[in-house]
Amino acid sequence: MDCDVVIVGGGPAGLAFARSLEDSGLRIVLLERAPLAALATPRFDGREIALTHGSKRILEQLGAWARIPAEEIAPMRAAKVVNGDSPFSLNFTAGEGEADRLGWLVPNHRIRAALYEAVKDQPGLCLVPGAEVVHARSGATGARAEVLLSSGEVVRAKLLVVADSRLSKTREALGIDADVNPLGRSMMVVRVRHELPHGATALEWFDHRQTLALLPLNGNMAGAVLTLPEEAARRVAAFDDASLGRDLTRRFRQRLGRMEVVSDRNVYPLVTTWAHQFVSGRAALIGDAAVGMHPVTAHGFNLGLGGQALLAAEVLEAVRRGMDPALPAVLRRFESGHRAACKPLYTGTNLLVRLFTDERLPARAMRHAVLRLGAGLPFVRPTVRAMLTH
Ligand SMILES: Cc1cc2nc3c(=O)[nH]c(=O)nc-3n(C[C@H](O)[C@H](O)[C@H](O)COP(=O)(O)OP(=O)(O)OC[C@H]3O[C@@H](n4cnc5c(N)ncnc54)[C@H](O)[C@@H]3O)c2cc1C
Repeated sequence: MDCDVVIVGGGPAGLAFARSLEDSGLRIVLLERAPLAALATPRFDGREIALTHGSKRILEQLGAWARIPAEEIAPMRAAKVVNGDSPFSLNFTAGEGEADRLGWLVPNHRIRAALYEAVKDQPGLCLVPGAEVVHARSGATGARAEVLLSSGEVVRAKLLVVADSRLSKTREALGIDADVNPLGRSMMVVRVRHELPHGATALEWFDHRQTLALLPLNGNMAGAVLTLPEEAARRVAAFDDASLGRDLTRRFRQRLGRMEVVSDRNVYPLVTTWAHQFVSGRAALIGDAAVGMHPVTAHGFNLGLGGQALLAAEVLEAVRRGMDPALPAVLRRFESGHRAACKPLYTGTNLLVRLFTDERLPARAMRHAVLRLGAGLPFVRPTVRAMLTH
């Protein structure tokens, strides 16, 4: 099969990129190993994605935002960061007007479903579910990029876009090195109903030997996130509903009163990744295949959306000028722009995680100081707020 662009991975990044090229006139093939049902009606996976204002705008432009059921979109008006038993917290509140919220919480499966709906009848796009890529070549000068499917079929394209997640096999097949850091901890995520109102405030609580988060949903509901060593997270996830409700009520020290479990639980082993290059030959990496963030700062998909938009803008400009969409200059511009956007957030998030999960006394004293000083410094809150609302 020959085409202009082949995309490996029909997750939110791959789907968004396909849609971004809607008016390009390019022949696009999107390969996804999961079956059609997983694309068309993805199941609830426990991820409540915090979207920034910038991401909302991109999803609107892609025709996906309007396809998300309104009752599944929850405003986040404030966020609070707490350390152990310290009385100090770092508080972020929204401004006024358009920015009367820091962002929105939307379940990941709704984002995926909306993006699938947006692309499913797109002219020029051939979406192939059940297609697993097992090998790839990025194509030296002149030659096309190639991917090999487990069925033995080969797809050739001018541009290969890799969006098959943080443990990307395609990235590996292309010989692109990456830092892959398993953290030995897992995140258990589950929806809870609670007695007291959350005030549309997200909570991040770096407690001793555990990290807790509450993500405010509509009504007295929240996404509860519990980060523990892998074995302990699996043990807690195996509790029955009533025991898990009691356990979470106790861990959150009744901040929102009694908690009742209302969804399946999902456990995500934490692994961060950073690809040493985002482009190679005729190939470009987007989404988690380029940078796999720690979820604590809720930037993974936001960066993925921004990255695909950047790549699409470069490709569309090349097409408008009648140029090859995978010219080295075109891909290099994407790479340098996206690396500059990701690097500070990736490094900053990793530092934050290290500081806030280190149980040794100096680190505990240090984070206490960080929260005290952060709460008092005039530029911290406006900077974070601006980052979220842009
Ligand atoms: C608990 C949790 C909470 C999070 N919260 C947030 C948040 O609040 N805000 C935020 O911005 N981000 C958040 N994230 C991150 C966000 O979920 C990811 O950044 C996003 O899902 C990445 O999308 P993707 O399309 O790159 O990869 P994926 O969603 O992993 O999709 C990759 C796709 O590629 C397919 N695939 C894989 N291998 C192959 C192959 N060989 N051949 C064909 N297809 C293949 C897979 O089936 C899959 O459909 C969170 C993540 C977790 C785990």
